[in-house]
Amino acid sequence: MRALALGSDVLVFVSSYWQTTCTAIRAGDEGFLIDSVIYPEELEALPGVLEQAGFPVSGLLATHGDWDHLLGREAFPTAALGCGESTAQRLTSEPGAAQRELREFDEESYVAGRRPLSLGAYQALPVPGKLALGPEHELEVHPAEGHTVDGVAYLMPWMGVLVCGDYLSPVEIPWISEHGSATAYLATLRRLAPLVEQADHVVPGHGAVLDGTRAAAILGEDVAYLEALLERGADAPLPLARRSGAQRRIHAENVGRVAAAV
Ligand SMILES: [Zn+2]
Repeated sequence: MRALALGSDVLVFVSSYWQTTCTAIRAGDEGFLIDSVIYPEELEALPGVLEQAGFPVSGLLATHGDWDHLLGREAFPTAALGCGESTAQRLTSEPGAAQRELREFDEESYVAGRRPLSLGAYQALPVPGKLALGPEHELEVHPAEGHTVDGVAYLMPWMGVLVCGDYLSPVEIPWISEHGSATAYLATLRRLAPLVEQADHVVPGHGAVLDGTRAAAILGEDVAYLEALLERGADAPLPLARRSGAQRRIHAENVGRVAAAV
């Protein structure tokens, strides 16, 4: 796990697996933890590291309902989890799915020593909407569907930080998962564009933190890829820096999803 400070009030942890990001933000004596790292020892380390750095955790937030972003309660079992309305609906409609997928991942990857995951009574945040942090600040909650059927992005305008979930990744091409949609994904990218313009730092769900210029460049590449995917299917060229075997497998999956949606 890597850790990176963005200014004095944001810490970003990047898991050794899938480079999944987990972002701690603080204002006064309140703080949120957005999404999660993955391995048990990474999660176990979080409370100590955050306490030492003086980052309180008053609540957990998730960008979307995929299991790899929902593990914060393993580190903070009594903290409440907040998520967008669409994610709350998804979690309610597929009870136990995150736990089952986590178990499958642990079995396949020989991960031992995991605490059982309980999401508790998650709270649905209105989207678009605002969420107070400390006495002076508000996070903006923006809709971000397309990768999955659900999702939000969190903008902290006073710090110039955007945490966008599984969009704008430097390591992963746009991934249309089972209930996702390429057209909804494109709409989300167009909605994120003005937020990226306001941001000094963009934290994608997977991969290194980006400055605003690099995030805008990835956004352009991803729009071009998705437009080509919708027009040309399998022939759509992948973004230059994301053409590995793993990315080609995601592309093949996307081609099937787009064909099935027509
Ligand atoms: Zn993810």
